[in-house]
Amino acid sequence: NENKLQDIIGHCKEYGFVFPSSEIYEGLGAVYDYGQNGVELKRNIRDYWWRSMTQMHDNIVGIDAAIFMHPTVWKASGHVDNFSDPMIDNKDSKKRYRVDHLIEGFAETLDAEKAKDLLARMDALLAADDFAGLKQLIETEKIKCGISGTANWTDVRQFNLMFATEFGAVASDDPDENKVYLRPETAQGIFVNFLNVQKSGRMKIPFGIAQTGKAFRNEIVARGFIFRMREFEQMEMQFFVRPGTQKQWYEYWKEQRMKWHLSLGISPDRYRFHDHVKLAHYADAACDIEYDFPMGFKEVEGVHSRTDFDLKSHQEYSRKKMQYFDADLDENGKAYGNYIPYVVETSIGLDRTVMMLLSEAYTIEDLSTEEKKDDRVVLKLPAFLAPVKLAVFPLTKKDGLPELADELMKECRPLFRCFYEEKDAIGKRYRRQDAIGTPFCVTVDHQSKEDGTVTIRHRDSMQQERVPMSEVKHIVMKSLQV
Ligand code: ATP
Repeated sequence: NENKLQDIIGHCKEYGFVFPSSEIYEGLGAVYDYGQNGVELKRNIRDYWWRSMTQMHDNIVGIDAAIFMHPTVWKASGHVDNFSDPMIDNKDSKKRYRVDHLIEGFAETLDAEKAKDLLARMDALLAADDFAGLKQLIETEKIKCGISGTANWTDVRQFNLMFATEFGAVASDDPDENKVYLRPETAQGIFVNFLNVQKSGRMKIPFGIAQTGKAFRNEIVARGFIFRMREFEQMEMQFFVRPGTQKQWYEYWKEQRMKWHLSLGISPDRYRFHDHVKLAHYADAACDIEYDFPMGFKEVEGVHSRTDFDLKSHQEYSRKKMQYFDADLDENGKAYGNYIPYVVETSIGLDRTVMMLLSEAYTIEDLSTEEKKDDRVVLKLPAFLAPVKLAVFPLTKKDGLPELADELMKECRPLFRCFYEEKDAIGKRYRRQDAIGTPFCVTVDHQSKEDGTVTIRHRDSMQQERVPMSEVKHIVMKSLQV
């Protein structure tokens, strides 16, 4: 619900997770900066994804391709011609809409039968590029978009989502000559390096190449905080397989990826698969993994069987062979020989994953007693993803307690991220750590000096126990295992 989303946005700003970009200048639409805690959470998720792909699979390696790529890459991939969304402006309200979102939004306000019928009609018009017909339908059906009366619409037009910029310092009369795009997906960096990696790594099919990095899309309407951004990060893996085996690998990766999601400690009923009926030009099967965000079930990851579309197209445009020689023998004892591999990809948005984990973790607990009203905001993040693992508090600033606490810091700092604080009452310090999801807080008090024990407090249960100081690092380390 909208309230929870607003609460999370406020919380992210207050506790250094996510800030609007260039905030002192009123921000920049759908661009965000990660703060001191957000950057750690994001990094931990990225590292976990990277490890599950490259370390846990012997046949997957990583690369880091440049954001800038040769302009022909985007011709070959189909992005120059196809990577666009239909857009319409309301001249009265000066609001801009994505026509397909308009359809979805409209569907929510109608009875199911009428909505289905209208959706089908709009879909058909969209498929036939009949933009005049679409505009007409929007007008005659008086699709409501937050304004009353007869709407004054512009024509529907296709809007390409790629950002372009100028490359190099050479002046040219042709504005297109120096044009390069900011990549709208990381996948193409993998396709163009397919043979470099295969040859240099002597990779045998089936094998995968993984990559994380920034992608840029000039989204028409950007809503939903870090769910839909104009600059975002993707974590993609392209898995190269023998033609004819793609369906089986597609099923394999669907299952693997769902397992990964569940390993984040999120329960299965918060997820669902959405199989694509209408397939993209490159795919022979595709599905989304959807998570139940505060705005409802939405895509967080895609698993796509991309056929040999990309490699074949790059072979055609670059005139370089994109073939692989498969020496394995088929059932007739003949080598499979040369072919262009098929590709099954998994593509997940890092920022959307951050948002998913924040939505899942954000909890308000009512701890009111008869005397006092009290709410506790706690981020119940899995310990291995939490920005800070251990907070160390000397009870007071004197009597040698800070020095003792410092000893614990020295012992733990090299192993995981720690935070030290000596200001304010202990209760207040606990709450601040709850708000950023720190799984353990340790308080060093006068008894610690006598018997070497400290109080360790568990974030979720708020239980406290007395343990030898030397045990603390083992308790934390144990909790970080996935
Ligand atoms: P959507 O339908 O939501 O626009 P998409 O189907 O275009 O997404 P893909 O091209 O499959 O998305 O990209 C793969 C993943 O990248 C998505 O599942 C999502 O997590 C992430 N992603 C795509 N666009 C954005 C964006 N504008 N902001 C943040 N993450 C994004």
